[in-house]
Amino acid sequence: MDTSIAYDVVLLPDTDRAVAYRKRVADSGCSLMGVTVAVFGVWVRDLWELYGDGRTFVSRLEREALLRAVCEGPAEGDCVDPESRKRAQLDGASGRCELAEGRIADGACALVGDSEAGVLGLDRVAAACVAAGVGLPAFDAAVRDACQGAPAGAGALEGMTCAEVPVLRIIGEYLDRLAQLGMIEPGQALALLPELLPQRPLCVLLEDAASLTPGQEAFFFACPWMEVEVRAASGSQGPVRAPEGVRVRFAFPSGQYAWPALLADIVRDALGAAAGRGAAPAAVAAAAAAEVPAAAAGPAADDDGASSCEDASGSADGYRDGRSAGAQAAAVVVAAKDPAVLFGRVAPALVRQGHVVALRGRRRFADTAFGRAICSLRRFLDEGQAGGISHIEGYGDIVPTDVERWDRADLADWALSPFSGMTRKAAFKLDADMRADRTARRSDLCARLRGDNPMFAAMERLALQLDAQAAAELEAAVRRMTNRSEAWRVEQLGALRALQRAAGAAKLAELGADAAFDQVQRLKVNVSRIVAPRGCDGAALGAPDVLMTDQNTAASLGSGSCKVLVAADLTSAAYPAADPEDASRVLLEHLGVKRADSALARMRRAFFALEHAATDQLIPERCLNDSSADPTYPCVVLEEFVDCYRDDPTATEDIDNPYSLPERLQDGMLLRGEDALCSNDALSDAPAPEAARIEPPLTGAVSSEARSLVVLPRVLQGGQVLDEPCLSPSQIESYLECPYKWFAQRRLRLDDLDEGFGPLEMGDFAHNALHSFYKHMSEDLGEAKVTPQLLPQARKLMADVFARHKALQPHLRQSENRLIPTSQVEHRELAELERKLMDYLDFEAELLPTFAPKYLEYDVACGGAVDYAGHKLLGTADRIDVDGEGRCAIIDYKGSISGSYALGVREEGRLGKVQALIYAQVVRRTLGLEPVGALYVCYGRRKMISGAYDGRVIENAHLPNMRHKDCMCADRPFSDVLDETEEAVAVALERMLAGDIRPRPETPEACKWCPVSSCSERRG
Ligand code: SF4
Repeated sequence: MDTSIAYDVVLLPDTDRAVAYRKRVADSGCSLMGVTVAVFGVWVRDLWELYGDGRTFVSRLEREALLRAVCEGPAEGDCVDPESRKRAQLDGASGRCELAEGRIADGACALVGDSEAGVLGLDRVAAACVAAGVGLPAFDAAVRDACQGAPAGAGALEGMTCAEVPVLRIIGEYLDRLAQLGMIEPGQALALLPELLPQRPLCVLLEDAASLTPGQEAFFFACPWMEVEVRAASGSQGPVRAPEGVRVRFAFPSGQYAWPALLADIVRDALGAAAGRGAAPAAVAAAAAAEVPAAAAGPAADDDGASSCEDASGSADGYRDGRSAGAQAAAVVVAAKDPAVLFGRVAPALVRQGHVVALRGRRRFADTAFGRAICSLRRFLDEGQAGGISHIEGYGDIVPTDVERWDRADLADWALSPFSGMTRKAAFKLDADMRADRTARRSDLCARLRGDNPMFAAMERLALQLDAQAAAELEAAVRRMTNRSEAWRVEQLGALRALQRAAGAAKLAELGADAAFDQVQRLKVNVSRIVAPRGCDGAALGAPDVLMTDQNTAASLGSGSCKVLVAADLTSAAYPAADPEDASRVLLEHLGVKRADSALARMRRAFFALEHAATDQLIPERCLNDSSADPTYPCVVLEEFVDCYRDDPTATEDIDNPYSLPERLQDGMLLRGEDALCSNDALSDAPAPEAARIEPPLTGAVSSEARSLVVLPRVLQGGQVLDEPCLSPSQIESYLECPYKWFAQRRLRLDDLDEGFGPLEMGDFAHNALHSFYKHMSEDLGEAKVTPQLLPQARKLMADVFARHKALQPHLRQSENRLIPTSQVEHRELAELERKLMDYLDFEAELLPTFAPKYLEYDVACGGAVDYAGHKLLGTADRIDVDGEGRCAIIDYKGSISGSYALGVREEGRLGKVQALIYAQVVRRTLGLEPVGALYVCYGRRKMISGAYDGRVIENAHLPNMRHKDCMCADRPFSDVLDETEEAVAVALERMLAGDIRPRPETPEACKWCPVSSCSERRG
C-alpha cells in the first residue's frame, strides 16, 4: 500500500495546525518523508535562505523599530501647510487630508512632520502598510514615485491623498535603511523568489487555507512550474448545525462571578467523579497541586482512532468524517478569550476535585511576573516620566519636582516580586521605610539597593540600558528559582526573551530603551500549564481532563478531538465582527491592495472547527452581563449559529428573550446567577465542610477580657508606670465626638503608613512656631504680649522663628510630625502658612489686651497625672493668659474652627468641644487661678475665636471675631460650666471604661474625616 503523501509541500495557516497535521498523518500511518509541512511564511523564509541573495528577513519587531527610527528622524515637512504651519492629518476613515493642530486618534490617525506624533501612530500605520503591500508592483511603484517627489494624484500616486504620500516616503526611507542593513522584507523576497527558484515541478497544497493574499497570488502566478492546490478552510460561509449526535446546550452565567462556577458544573457533569487518578478527593483537597508546563496538552497526543492517510489530506467537504484524527486533546476543551485568567480562577478548584487541568494560552508581557517586575522598576527608574507642567488655579504653572517624578508604589511592586531577590519581610520594610520618609530620594534608594542587591543591579542595567549581560544573569537567576514550578520558570524565561527580542530590534534601529519597552508591552508570551492532584503526573497523562485555550488553538485540535467543547465568551465585545477601519487599510485600498481575509471570515472558520471538535456536547457560552453589569450581546457567529435552527431567521418574536434563543434551543440550558456568592466562589454547590466555627466579631463593645486594655498603662516622666486609666483631654474629646472613631483612631491606630503633609503636620508646625515666638518675645524683646506698638518687631521675630523652624524640620524624627514640602504646591502651602501666622499677629494684638501669656505649652500635670472626673489626666495646654488679678484664659490654637466649639451647642443637648474647659478646670485646681475663658483661637485664613468665656469679666471687644452670644456665659458663674463639663465627662468615661465603643457621632461632622470606611452609622 502506498502510504506517501501526494504533495511535496503542505502549507498550513499557523504552527498549531502544522503540528496537528503532522500528528494526524503520523497517526494514520502515512509517511511524510520528503514532504515539507510548514506555515507559508516559514516555507518562504526557508526558500530564501536556500536561493536568496543572502539578505536576512526582517522581523515584525525590527520593522516597527526601524520605522519608528525613521519617524523620529528629522521631519520632512511635506505635510505642513506652508501658510498656516499646521500639520496634515491622515484620517483613517475617509483618507482625506485635513489640517489639524496636533490631534492623534488611537492607531487610526497619524501626524506627519512631528517626531513625537510619529512615535504614537505613524510608525504603526507604516508598518501595517509595509507588511501588506511591499513586493506588490502597485505599492512599490507608489513608494518609488513618492520618494522621487511626485505629487499626490500623479502617476503611481493616483488616488493617494496629500497626507498619504509622506507615509510612502517614510516607507521608502525605511526600505533604503533595510537594504543598508542587509535585510529584506518577506514581501520583497516573495517578489524576487520566482526568478531565483529552480524551475522543477513541485506539488503544493495549501491546506485549511483562507483566501490567498495578493502577494501569495502573485508568487504562485509567477511560478507556473508549481502545481498548487488550495483547499479552503471550511466554514468561511458561516456556521452550520452541529453534527448529528452532538448535543447543543447553551450556557448563560449571569456575570463574570458566576461563569467559573458554571464552568466547574459543566466539567463535573462531563467527567463525573474523578476516577482512579492520584489521591482520593479528600486527600487531594488537602494536597497542593503539582504544576508543570503543558507540553502534553497539545493536540492529538493519543492514537485511538482509525483515520487513514487519505483522511488526513481528504476533501474539504468531508471535514468531519475526513479530518477526524480520533485523538482526544482533553475530555473537555474550553475555548476562551482569555484562557489564562479563567485557568487561574477555575483550575485550583477542579484539581481539588481530582481533575487534571491544562492551559495553553498567551499572556501579555506586562502580566507575567517578570514583565510586571521589570516594568515597575523601569517606571521607578525612568527619570523622564511625569515631566509635564500643570496649571493649577491660584497657583499658576507647577513644575514637578524630582520626588513627584517617581512613585514609591513602583519600587514596592518590584521589591515584592520574585525578581527583587528580597524576602517579603525585607520588601515590606523597604516599602514602609520609603513611605514613612518624604525626603527619600530615588538616587539614594538606588544606591542603597545597588550596594547590597545583585538582582537590583542586573534589573537596573536591563531596564535602563538593555544590557545583554544583565539579561543573561537574570536568566540564570530564573533557572535557579527551583522553589517555583517549572511552568512558571518557562513563562518568565519567555517574557525575558520577549524583552531581549525587543531590545535587539531597538538596538538595530539605534533606539533607546523607551522604544524597546513600548514594543514589548504589546507582545504576548506563551503560557502553558498542567495542574494535577498530588500523586498524579499530569505531564505523563498525555491528555488532561480539561484544556483551557484560545479559540484558534481549540479550532486547530481537529474534529472529534474532545467530548465536550465549550465555546466561551461569545459576545460581540469579545469577538467583534468588523475589521478595524484604520489609516493603513485606507491607504492600501487607494493603491488597489485589498485585504484577503476578514475578521468575520476568521471567526466563522474558527467556530466551524469548534462545532466539529466535540463528539458529545457543544456548549456555546455567553455571560449575560459584563463587568459593569451592562447586558451583553451575542457575537455575529453565535447569532448565525442560532439562525441555523430557526425556521425564519428574519422573524424576531421567537428570540425575543434574555437568551436570544428560540424555544427549541432553550432545552438543557445551563444557567447560574451571581447571587450564590459563596458557592460561586467555591465553584461548588456542595455545602462546605465546617473546618472551624468562628463567632462573629463583637462590634460596638470591647469584650470583658479586653476591657482592661481599653486604656493602656502610661509611662510618666521619670519612668513611673501608671496602671490606672489615664487620659488626655484630646482623647476624651475624641471619645465624645464618636466612641467608635476614638477606638479606631486611638486604639487601633488606623494611621496611614505614608509620612503626611496635611493638617496634622501643619498644626504641629504652627503650634511649635507660636510657642517659640512667645518664648522669644519675652526672652529677646522682654515683652509677654503682642501689642499694636510692638507689631513691627513681632513680625520680624515671627519671620525669624518661621525660618528657623522650617530649617529644623528635616532634622526631626518622622514621629514628630515634621512638615517637609516636596512639591511646588507644598512649598506654596508652607509659604501660605507663614503668611497666615504673620497676619495672625495683628489679630493677636487685639486679643485679651488685659491678659498676657504666662504659661506656654504648659504640662498641667507637671510630669505626673492629675485627677479629673474621677480618673487620672495628663496633657499640655497651648497657652494660659493671666491678668493682674489672678484670672486666666486657656488658649487652644486651631487651624480652623466649626460651630461645635461654641458653648451654645449645649442648648442642642450635646457637649461640644471640651479640651479647653478640661484644662481650665485642672488649672483652677493646680495653679489656683480663676478661669474666665476657655478659648479656641484660629490662626487660619479667617482669624476668629470660639469657646466659652465669663461675660461678666471679659469685654466683648477684647474677643474680636467671635459670636459672643454663642460663647458667653453671663447668667451663672463660669466655674459652674467647668463643673458641669466634668460631670458629663465622668459619665462618658464610665461608658468608655465599660467597653462601650458603639458608633455614635455627636454631629455629622464627626464622620467627615473618620477612617472607619464601612460604618453603618456614618452620617453626612
Ligand atoms: S463613620 Fe461616623 S459614626 Fe462611624 S465611627 Fe466614624 S464617626 Fe463614628
